[in-house]
Amino acid sequence: MKFASRLVQYDAAPGDRFRPTSTPIYQTATFEQEHADRFGDYDYSRSGNPTRKVLEELVANLEGGTHGFAFTSGMAAITAVARTLRVGDEILADSDLYGGTCRLFTRILERSGIGTSYADAGSLESFAAKITPRTRLIFLESPTNPLLRVIDMQAIAELAHANGALLVVDNSLMSPYLQQPLSLGADIVVHSATKFLCGHADVTGGIVVVRDAKLAEDIYYLQNAEGNALAPFDCFLLQRGLKTLKLRVDAQQRNALSIAEFLAADPRVERVFYPGLKIDPGYTLQHRQASGAGSVLSFTARSVAAARAVAEQARMFHICVSFGSVHSTISLPGSMSHASVPPEIAASRELPPELVRISVGIEDVGDLIGDLDQALPQPTLSPANCGLTTQLG
Ligand code: PLP
Repeated sequence: MKFASRLVQYDAAPGDRFRPTSTPIYQTATFEQEHADRFGDYDYSRSGNPTRKVLEELVANLEGGTHGFAFTSGMAAITAVARTLRVGDEILADSDLYGGTCRLFTRILERSGIGTSYADAGSLESFAAKITPRTRLIFLESPTNPLLRVIDMQAIAELAHANGALLVVDNSLMSPYLQQPLSLGADIVVHSATKFLCGHADVTGGIVVVRDAKLAEDIYYLQNAEGNALAPFDCFLLQRGLKTLKLRVDAQQRNALSIAEFLAADPRVERVFYPGLKIDPGYTLQHRQASGAGSVLSFTARSVAAARAVAEQARMFHICVSFGSVHSTISLPGSMSHASVPPEIAASRELPPELVRISVGIEDVGDLIGDLDQALPQPTLSPANCGLTTQLG
């Protein structure tokens, strides 16, 4: 079956004698056992729950993996992957990473004796030079967040494997509809399911997908032992959202391209970061390893004040952290989603303060462009300075 069919054609309730077409919410902590010395398929919802199982198998299938695990948030999913490491192990991460991931790696994992270093995974040679005999995981997002740089995942997977490490890809920005990192050689895919998998900004959730049985055993052991699996109602909502993943992403991506073209042609915008534009340096690689560029894009305004003005003047783009919902949002990553990057890491990282990130929804694209047009501060030419400035700049 093709992807669009797999989103809706699956057994929603294996073994249920009433044959419901939507997965029931098995809102129960415990399952009665027939025998005192042998357990059935489920005994306790921390260890396993039928609603969660259907979701986990569905996402594993969509990502081309064999085992999926649903967690209470994207951070809980990434934490579970990190917990497979031991004292002395190291992570090598791309430098353009979600702020919360950076905070986890740098502030929390170091307490357990796990080190993290950062480098630009787009420069293969200098990235490779950061690998040490202790490197166990290489971690990246592609396109990166918020600068939308495209990383050659196949090359990084080969590098990881040649050095005895695993490649972990955070696929939140793309979703399995546009990109399947396991098929490019990644060993583990993680998601903030809060984003496109949910699609409606009404659940926080996380997913881990693998295709190695030993790795699956390890992740399951952690999920059960640490008790951070997603609750049945949230699993139900994620499944409901997933049914329209293709329709949503197609519509959002179409809108995003039109908006990127509008912004790229507007003199009030300094630069647009979006690998869906042919002039973007990541365009060719993006279209080789994914089937689209998605619907999150960034641009630099001509000053920090102008960036703030766009965000605050926009009416249809709501100021929100996160992305991937059917409604459009706008944020200033430097002071919002990436404010948690520890200062010593932020200093070595390119994150322009005048950067604006938008996540494009399914609204009418003419309305969205009109909204950005009215929100961007008008340029003014002063006799003393004939360069382009803005009223707020
Ligand atoms: N990964 C990326 C790329 C994100 O943007 C986020 C959150 O914004 C996370 C992971 C963390 O996910 P969650 O907020 O669901 O914990």
